[in-house]
Amino acid sequence: MERIAIIGAGLCGLRCAEVLQNAGLEVQLFDKSRGVGGRLATRRHQHWRFDHGCPSLHGDQDEWQQLIGGYPRWDTARAKGTQHLPSLGINQLAKDLGAALRVQRDCLIESIEQTGDDWLVRDQHGAEFDSFNHVVMTLPPLQALTLLARLTTPLRSHLQAVSMAPSWVMMWVAPTQLFDAAEHYPEQSFIQRISAEHSKPDRGLPDGEYAYVLEASAAWSSHHEEADKDTIEEAFTKELSRLFGNKPARLHSAVHRWRYAHTRTPMGKPFALDPTIGLSIAGDWCLGQGAGGAYRSGTALAHQLLEDSATG
Ligand SMILES: Cc1cc2nc3c(=O)[nH]c(=O)nc-3n(C[C@H](O)[C@H](O)[C@H](O)COP(=O)(O)OP(=O)(O)OC[C@H]3O[C@@H](n4cnc5c(N)ncnc54)[C@H](O)[C@@H]3O)c2cc1C
Repeated sequence: MERIAIIGAGLCGLRCAEVLQNAGLEVQLFDKSRGVGGRLATRRHQHWRFDHGCPSLHGDQDEWQQLIGGYPRWDTARAKGTQHLPSLGINQLAKDLGAALRVQRDCLIESIEQTGDDWLVRDQHGAEFDSFNHVVMTLPPLQALTLLARLTTPLRSHLQAVSMAPSWVMMWVAPTQLFDAAEHYPEQSFIQRISAEHSKPDRGLPDGEYAYVLEASAAWSSHHEEADKDTIEEAFTKELSRLFGNKPARLHSAVHRWRYAHTRTPMGKPFALDPTIGLSIAGDWCLGQGAGGAYRSGTALAHQLLEDSATG
């Protein structure tokens, strides 16, 4: 039986694994984090929940729409279509997808190596996992390139052509409401989007508590990529005062940097595969369409691998 290693248990890796496993292949996922989902992330603090990566899901592709349509609807004024997300937080979708899959967590893959016809992958503690016929990499392009440093493969030039943009976000809980809507897109501000977490399905908060996630633009985040958290928090707070008047009171705040948040230059096709060595790359950066693109990339690669294993 084909044995496949998938590095990265974000949406793309999970979806790829799901299709392959449903077709009877043996799949092992590896992720450096304690949980699954990557940028489909939900952070908890006390009783507050923040989707501090991707804030919600929308899309019109058949299978993707069917999957997200099974979760509650979040009514926003956005023209792009209906938004959906699990009540417990966006990360729940990844947990649901991962429930039937084998995922090795806390496992930062530091090297991949060919041993005869097979692959061996090694984590940060030196633990080795071997006998894989194929390795799928769904990590950010720069990190994937590092793993390919010693290999001769055209996948390297595909990865070199891709670029990603960072994003600083701030999680904020206030005793007063900043605006009366699900989302707000400030004009002429480095804050490009504010999501009202308390307006999400089944996430109502007690009176006097309003939870928000504020996302900075890619340009501002790139410019301040290496700034320390205190500086970023101060800049966000100052901007909130400018946008909403006075210094808004806070019950809680925290900032987070996503070094690879959004695709700046996509690869231009759903995946790339090097059949000569049994290695492939996938991720949202292939098509550059956010979460829907990650799902499409993982699906397309899985179907290609199944076709190859049927004919090969
Ligand atoms: C702030 C923000 C806002 C966003 N807004 C939207 C939006 O409005 N709409 C939308 O559609 N999308 C949005 N997105 C993008 C969306 O979250 C992503 O497109 C999607 O989640 C990417 O999935 P992925 O599986 O390709 O990558 P990821 O989720 O990044 O998964 C990659 C995984 O690889 C793991 N990994 C990395 N290196 C290693 C290693 N060496 N070993 C093992 N594991 C490793 C990581 O831990 C991670 O789990 C947003 C993202 C952010 C951060």
